[in-house]
Parts: sequence; C-alpha cells; structure tokens
Amino acid sequence: MSKSYVLSIDQGTTSTRAILFDEAGRPCGSASAPLTQIFPAPGQVEHDANEIWQSVLQVCRGVLCETGAASIAAIGITNQRETTVVWERATGEPLANAIVWQDRRTAPLCAELEAEGWAGHIAEATGLVIDPYFSATKLAWLLTNVPGLAERAKRGEVCFGTIESFLMFKLTGGETHVTDATNAARTKMFDIRSGAWDARLLDRLCVPLEMLPDVRDCQSDFGMTAEEHFGVRLPIRGVAGDQQAAAYGQACFQPGMLKATYGTGGFVVANTGGDKVASTTRMLSTILYQQEGTRTYALEGTIFMAGATIQWLRDSLGLIANAGESETLAAEGHPNSGVYLVPAFQGLGAPFWDAHARAAIVGLSRASTKADIVAAGLEAVAFQTRDILTGMGHDMRRSGVGPTHALRVDGGMTANAWAMQRLADILGEPVEVAAVLETTALGAAYHAGQAVGFYGDNETLGAAWKRSKLFEPKMGETERDARYDGWLEAVDRVRSREAREGSSDV
Ligand code: ADP
Repeated sequence: MSKSYVLSIDQGTTSTRAILFDEAGRPCGSASAPLTQIFPAPGQVEHDANEIWQSVLQVCRGVLCETGAASIAAIGITNQRETTVVWERATGEPLANAIVWQDRRTAPLCAELEAEGWAGHIAEATGLVIDPYFSATKLAWLLTNVPGLAERAKRGEVCFGTIESFLMFKLTGGETHVTDATNAARTKMFDIRSGAWDARLLDRLCVPLEMLPDVRDCQSDFGMTAEEHFGVRLPIRGVAGDQQAAAYGQACFQPGMLKATYGTGGFVVANTGGDKVASTTRMLSTILYQQEGTRTYALEGTIFMAGATIQWLRDSLGLIANAGESETLAAEGHPNSGVYLVPAFQGLGAPFWDAHARAAIVGLSRASTKADIVAAGLEAVAFQTRDILTGMGHDMRRSGVGPTHALRVDGGMTANAWAMQRLADILGEPVEVAAVLETTALGAAYHAGQAVGFYGDNETLGAAWKRSKLFEPKMGETERDARYDGWLEAVDRVRSREAREGSSDV
C-alpha cells in the first residue's frame, strides 16, 4: 500500500483530535474526543494524563480504521503547551495528575523568584516572564508536594515532560524520552539562545537534569510507535507546540510574517528570523521552529479571553443563544455607542501582564443596548490584537526585523465576519483568513510530512498557502484612533493598583 497520508495528533486543552492530511495537505478524515477538566481548588486545573493517552489512542484508531495504518507515512504531534506531566520511567505510569497551563497554584513560588531577582535571567535565557503559566514552577511544585517524588527523581526513576513528550514515551512503548525545541522553549527551564537546559534555573528549582527529555529539531526521528498500538510501527517525525504549529501551518516562514489564532483565547505569533528578539514591550520571545539545529525565533502575545468572552456573553449574561448570533447582533449595535468591554476576567495578558485587573463594561448610557455590549465584546479582541501588534512592531523595528506582513488568522472566531472586519478596521491593516482552518494540526503534519519527503520545501509550502477571505480596512484613520484611545482609557480604568505601581505578580 502506498504511504499517502500524514497522521496529525492535536492534543488540546479541551479535546484531542487526529486528522489525516494527504500529500497535498488536504484534511481527509478526522476523529476527536473531549477531555475532562479537573478543578481541585480555585485557580487549579488538572488533567488525567492517562485519559489524555487513552484519548490519543482512541482518535488515532478511529481515524485509521478506514484508511488503515499501513498508508501512514509519518505521525506529527502538536499539543497544549506548558502542561506538566511526571511519570515513572519503568512503567510509563503518571505519578500525579498533569498540571494544566491555566493553573495558578505556583503564584507564591513565582513571587519568590521575582523577589530573588530572577526576572532578568529568565527573560534573557528563556525569553519568558515569571508567571505560573509555564512548566518550571509546576514541576517544582510537584517535586515538593508529591511524597517521595524528589528522591525518586534524583535516582533517575522519574521522567518529566510536557504532553507531547509523555505521548511519545507512551507511543514508543517507553523507547524515547524526547521533546522538540518549541515545547522545551515553554518550560522556562530551556535556554533558547543556546538550545540547552538552563543549569542555573534547574539548580534553583531543584530539578534533576536526568528527569528532563532530550530536545530535538521539530523534524526529527522521535521514535517508532510500538506495534501493539496500531498493528504496524509508525515513525513519529514532526513535533511542535500548538501556537508554533499554527504559525507553521499558516506558512509564516519569513521574518515579519504573523498569525493570530482566535479560539477560547487569542495567540499572536510573529516570525522574527534567526535572532532572538529581546522584547521591551513585555512580549514573550520563543522558538518558532528548529531545523537542522538552526533556530527560527518568534515573538508571542497572548489574549486570555477571545472567544471565551463570547461564551461569557452567552452563558453568564444570556445575551445571545449561540456564538454565531453575536455577528448579527453586533451589526445592530450603535456605531458610536461608546461602550467598551475590557475582558480582564483573569487579569490582562501582554503587554499589560496585570494579574489583578478585573473585567468591566464601561461607557454605558440609558441608550445602550445588548447589541452594543455584544459588539464591544467582539471589538475587544480587535483592540487587544492592536495592543499586541503595537508592542511587537516596536520590538521588531528596534531589532531590524520587518516590516510586518498582513495578519493571517484562524480559529473558531474567524467564522464571525463582523469581528474580522472590525479587526481589520482597528488594525488599519488587511486580515486574511486561512483556507484550512485546522492550521495547528496542519503545521504538525507539515513538519512530519517534510521529514519524510512530502510537501516540498518551505518556499513551496509558502506558495501553496491559500486564504478563504480577505478583510480590508474600511474605517477612517480618525475614527480608528479615536476608538482605540477610548479602549486605552477603558483599560486604564480596570488596571490594578499593584500593576500601576509596577508590582503585579508576574
Ligand atoms: P479552542 O480550540 O480554543 O477550543 P475554537 O477554535 O474551536 O477554540 O473556537 C471556539 C471559540 O470560538 C469559542 O470560544 C466560541 O465562543 C468562539 N466562536 C465560535 N464561533 C464564533 C462566532 N461566530 N463568533 C464569535 N465567536 C465564535
């Protein structure tokens, strides 16, 4: 049988998906399974790593039942980043629930690191900020709080990994304990300049080097799946964290090219080329991909609430019956309502990094309607994107990267034409919606496929990229700037006293 497909595994926060891509990069079949969210206490989020593993087996077997495993040329994996797993080396059994990226339990340890003056070293070496978001403090928490774990880890009996690393260990029947550079870059223990684990941070956090995975290129030999899983052994050849995979699937191969994914949250990633850009606007610096030992870097900005704001308008306020209704309702809003919704429900991400800010709807008058509030919820995504692109643009110009290209977008919210038009209007730049909306899975498939001779080089992939829609800015500059000034004023009203005084707990 000819090897005609790449099997892409997309292990996300709320679900696990498997998608088959053919040699032209077209999705040809998919299966998905939801994932249980465990909330042990306020601010804590866990997953059962075994449930994740079983869901991967289930969706892969589901999607392979028609085509047969023998037609698979390679497997690609993309995953929720930062989520931290520890398991027993001898058996592959998880030794605790996985601590999910959203989990805030390590805020006190982060405050200690901040007070000890680690922010400078962390920014320089890892490109990140001190925040519970990343794996390092989650692993330190597990080593301190799971009885016996630290001693066993010192003896080499325990493996740490983010989700892709755990899955590869399981898929290969324990043959490989590996990760790729994009996932390593999100642990806050990896020096993205040298491509090595950071000895100073490991020492401070009491993490034994022996428990860390071997870091490889995104296109690499990550091992063969054990025969028992799919009947034949399949090579795992491509791996990237979800946002980096999405940027790869969006063919952002040139410095200055950028993409935004609007799902529950929003993630803006810009290719900055071969040099790590040190952000002065509190963006994250990270690895976009690593090929043949050469790293391509990125700047990343996170919007905590994108589609999640629409869910809140639906579920908590009942203003809409479904997400799609937000589009028709927003169009009925008053064009100059003056209403702003600042969705700081979990604080504000880049560039404000204000953990204590809380959400607000400001500018209400007796004439305000629910349509104005829904429009403001959608518009907030546009304003937050502009906040991020302003910061990134500044960092990139200062570092000689650029100019930035049109913004390529994907994710569930891009179905909303009103929101995408408003995004183009507030940015004053064109917005292009990708033709393949599963860009995250596609990026992992591109990595795995390229490793086995599918898809051609990046230039070929770049030329093959297609958009389904283009939104050109229509709003005049005066209106655009006036609206954005109103947003900045609204943000100013919700920012916490701690952040204003420069001591927010990040
Ligand atoms: P994730 O991968 O984070 O689960 P998806 O890419 O599947 O997210 O997108 C789902 C999100 O997109 C939800 O938060 C939902 O509220 C939002 N969404 C879906 N359709 C629309 C729409 N037409 N308008 C606005 N938001 C939408």
